[in-house]
Amino acid sequence: MIRRDFLKTALTAGTSSLLAPRLWAFEPVSVANPLGVYPSRDWEKVYRDQYRYDSTFTWVCAPNDTHMCRLRAFVRNGVILRSEQNYDHDRCGDLYGNTATKAWNPRGCPKGFTMHRRVYGPYRLRGPVVRKGWKEWADAGYPALSDQPALRTKYRFDDRGNDTFVRVSWDEAYRYLAEGLAAVARTYSGDQGRARLAKDGYDPLMIDQVQGAGTRTVKVGSNLPIHGVIGKFGIYRMANLLGLLDHHVRGVPPEQARGGRDWNEYTWRGDQAPGHPYVHGLQTSDMDMNDLRFSKLVIQVGKNLIENKMPESHWFNEVMERGGKLVDIAPEYNCPGTKSNYWIGVRPGLSDTAVFLGLAKILIDEGWYDADFVRRFTDFPLLVRTDTLKRLRPEEVIKGYKPKDLNGGPSYTIQGLTDQQRATIGDFCVWDPKAGQVAALSRDEVGAKMLVEPALEGIFQVHLLDGKTVEVLPIFTMYKRHLADYDLKTVEEISGAPAALVRRLAEDIWQTTKAGQPVAIHIGEGINHYFHATLHNRATYLPMLLTGNIGKHGAGVHTWAGNYKGALLQASPWSGPGVGSYTAEDPFHPVLDEKTRITHEELRHTNDAEDPSYWACGEKILAAETREGRKVFTG
Ligand code: SF4
Repeated sequence: MIRRDFLKTALTAGTSSLLAPRLWAFEPVSVANPLGVYPSRDWEKVYRDQYRYDSTFTWVCAPNDTHMCRLRAFVRNGVILRSEQNYDHDRCGDLYGNTATKAWNPRGCPKGFTMHRRVYGPYRLRGPVVRKGWKEWADAGYPALSDQPALRTKYRFDDRGNDTFVRVSWDEAYRYLAEGLAAVARTYSGDQGRARLAKDGYDPLMIDQVQGAGTRTVKVGSNLPIHGVIGKFGIYRMANLLGLLDHHVRGVPPEQARGGRDWNEYTWRGDQAPGHPYVHGLQTSDMDMNDLRFSKLVIQVGKNLIENKMPESHWFNEVMERGGKLVDIAPEYNCPGTKSNYWIGVRPGLSDTAVFLGLAKILIDEGWYDADFVRRFTDFPLLVRTDTLKRLRPEEVIKGYKPKDLNGGPSYTIQGLTDQQRATIGDFCVWDPKAGQVAALSRDEVGAKMLVEPALEGIFQVHLLDGKTVEVLPIFTMYKRHLADYDLKTVEEISGAPAALVRRLAEDIWQTTKAGQPVAIHIGEGINHYFHATLHNRATYLPMLLTGNIGKHGAGVHTWAGNYKGALLQASPWSGPGVGSYTAEDPFHPVLDEKTRITHEELRHTNDAEDPSYWACGEKILAAETREGRKVFTG
């Protein structure tokens, strides 16, 4: 067939096949019940087969993202086919029968829905592996690397990322692990161990911290242990158990045995806001997301409640449905920006610290603040000495002053304050304008218990017991001075944020507050990783402190690190040592009776803590010369 004939034939055939279904489709039919006479439903079987399952079970997705979504898996022939949202978070409750609101549903995201694919996938690690160079070092008898530094290269301790892995059996893995730990403990114990550490260049302060026990050079850390108390917190238990190893290696009695060092795992990575403790003493303000739906003005700063907080994004939708305003502060016109009433673009970095200082300045200058709240619930009235820039203490001005008795008060009965903490915190001073003198306050004398109406503004001269006269200022006045630098023009120069939008945000904060509606600021964890995140964290609190947007539903400043779960496992006088019952059980006297209620009596810390930022900085201490001499900031 020549090409011309072929095309002609093909065209004719094509035309007729196109016409055929058309004629069929337009042929009139009379159908009383379309479901009853549908021509053929066999094809549905394919889908029904695909969807069919033998059994289901619920599971909680618990990766690093902390959302803990409860999902339902569908199983056929012993294989999980799919996972779906289970819509039953409202039926989950605590031991006392308290259940969550239905509004938590739905939860889940495509990562959770496809988790089983990873479980069944080809890249899942199915057995122990050991780095090849490490195994060769172990097989050579664990020679001391400090004695022969060239071995670090030979066994690729200085090139681990490019090494390969060797599969070993579980028995081998356990043997290598035990032998390795014992070898490290032996190598760095005693005077010889100390000399090796010195040769390797460790700071004498850190060598002192080893206290002669090689086990102290073993450092362990876990990623978000709160997500797996046994599996992840278990590594801290192991650090404590290394006290047993020290007992054997050095032959010291149990009471002198020292375990490994555990990394604090959380704060160094900065997921939590490091500045929050500076503001309110809590490790982090991590909200229950259902509180978000009460907000009437939500300000996201470096936060992406839509793409990065997948199962929480519906709370954000609810704010919209309920007529709340949304503002987004971020360098890029990001996903929340597209949903917000307005987006304030800022330079990358922490330039937006200036935005919040600028907002605070406007609020103060315009008198857009709740002075009563500021006096009763913030540190703004507390007096600071201008000569030392430290808080004025009652002991400095009131003869024979003894810290107030807080026994029976909320600090002790609710917050679990200890005597030692009480002694460290001490009491504070404010200026009582009516009496024209300093008044002493304890941490319990806040809110309705505030004894005086303290001054927020002013400069006062105070006669100290040592005969000196010093100038003191309320923190509010100090801020006024500090914020003088943050006029709108300067804020725009520093941050790139349009001055008009910063002004608009200040107005929105005040107008929303005046209308009796809550305002909330949500900061992203990315911000918390910056070196000066503490300053940013405090700056974000300022507008909320000034306007009383703290302690109300839908208000506050929050980051999100999934930290809320930690409360379930914390120690308290009435609940016992919490997760410490497991991690810090005395290795030499384990509690073998399952009915025994573990108290602090059964615990013992053979381990020591270390901040992993020390390790991350090449195991060099962070020391600085200050006005008060040399200070070491390594934890
Ligand atoms: S958001 Fe997704 S990945 Fe995270 S816990 Fe929920 S389902 Fe799992």
